[in-house]
Amino acid sequence: MRAMAFANPGGPEVLQIMDLPKPSLEDDEVLVQVKACALNHLDVWVRQGLPTKIPMPHIGGCEITGIVAEVGRNVRDAKIGQRVLISPGQSCMHCDWCNQGLDSCCDQFHIIGYQTQGGFAEYAKARAVDLLPISEAWSFAEWSAVPTPLDAPKTTTSSFGFTRARSCSMFQAVTNVSGTAGGKVEIDLRFFFSQQHCILGAYMGSRHGLLQCLRLIEKRVFQPVVDSVFPLEKLREAQERMEKREMFGKIVVTP
Ligand SMILES: [Zn+2]
Repeated sequence: MRAMAFANPGGPEVLQIMDLPKPSLEDDEVLVQVKACALNHLDVWVRQGLPTKIPMPHIGGCEITGIVAEVGRNVRDAKIGQRVLISPGQSCMHCDWCNQGLDSCCDQFHIIGYQTQGGFAEYAKARAVDLLPISEAWSFAEWSAVPTPLDAPKTTTSSFGFTRARSCSMFQAVTNVSGTAGGKVEIDLRFFFSQQHCILGAYMGSRHGLLQCLRLIEKRVFQPVVDSVFPLEKLREAQERMEKREMFGKIVVTP
């Protein structure tokens, strides 16, 4: 299958079109023919090199929509041809953290396209339980723009409760969401102390939060915002656009 992958970390130039094997399925997994994959700053960090063991050559891309192409032997719920979104954050779904809806605290939590192969390719695989059906209310590109922009900020407030969220000023909300601006920020501790700010981390939203977001998008309470759509082969240019912060909304690639 065609994939935009990299064999060594580095700048956008390490991304190359490669012919890699189609993912082989475990009994509980599903093969998805990728129709769209939205870009995330995580893709850039992973491409640049993080101290985490990742499969190589690496296929990034965590915000994937597509069509079910093959199902594993034990899969009953997914049907060939079904339109789906792959939940980016994947966890064990039965530990204490998962049962509290704090999936990203699970010991087994990982993000597709980071610790596993992602969606910058013709096909991606996922456990059947990580597939979420999507309607024809929006295009594949638009649905791919949904998971992280809405879900992480929502979880920042919902996980800690409204009172806690309200007591923290917009300063923290902005800091939480814009962690993608870089690894380090400068804080004037005098104002931080006297104005009683606090810092909260929100790595990823929960599956529960994502489901709620999908329902709101379905009802058109919110609308996915797509900045631009690039063909898969132009992933390099697409990531450069994101790194230069030239976009408004999500950048999406289509195989
Ligand atoms: Zn768990």
